[in-house]
Amino acid sequence: MNKISIKVQDGCSQNCSYCIVRELRGKSQSYSYEAICKDIDFFIKELDCKVFDLCGVNTLEYYHDSVGNFVDLCRKLTDKYRDINFVIDNINPFNEKEVCELIDLVEITDNISKELFISIQSVSNDLLKVMHRPYTKESLYKIFTYAKTKGIIIKTEIIVGFPGETEEMFNETYAFLNQFKTNFTAHVYSNRPGTEAEKYTDIIPEKVILSRMNKYKELQKDIECLQN
Ligand code: SF4
Repeated sequence: MNKISIKVQDGCSQNCSYCIVRELRGKSQSYSYEAICKDIDFFIKELDCKVFDLCGVNTLEYYHDSVGNFVDLCRKLTDKYRDINFVIDNINPFNEKEVCELIDLVEITDNISKELFISIQSVSNDLLKVMHRPYTKESLYKIFTYAKTKGIIIKTEIIVGFPGETEEMFNETYAFLNQFKTNFTAHVYSNRPGTEAEKYTDIIPEKVILSRMNKYKELQKDIECLQN
């Protein structure tokens, strides 16, 4: 049986300059512990499902009075469903303390996947500011180093050619991925109508983007070789 995705949270209260989600889905809303268990019970009973993906638009924004934050939710679900395996969907590194608490929980819990997907988008502090992503390169170094010491595998995604991305900014992100040998997906920046970034004028030429994508492609190959 394939895994089933259980939505624990919807919407997003962040305001990344290139994203339209908040306009479309509103601020973060979380489902109660009882509602989440009801969904899980249904799929166990009807489909004998054994693997669940806990997902949301910005999963670490989860908070509900019935259980607490996302780490509390994961703790309670993995305790209740000992024979079920859980996978944690895409998370954002906005709250370093909570990400590290999640890493701690994943390390000691048998029925959670030891892989986490953390969207970083860039490592450059200057670019993160323009993206309105409220974390820093220093915080990312701490999180990735911490995960490594705990044996947790992190995968990530980045944006290539965000308006204003200089060669130095690109090199910072490249060096970070190379240092941690992190599996990553590189997305070429695409302009979304209605976003703040739509108005940014410092557009990166196509040939520069292609050259950066090629460098990332080579890096991905090297990282994959090391892991096989
Ligand atoms: S955290 Fe994700 S969903 Fe929320 S605004 Fe940023 S990119 Fe959009």
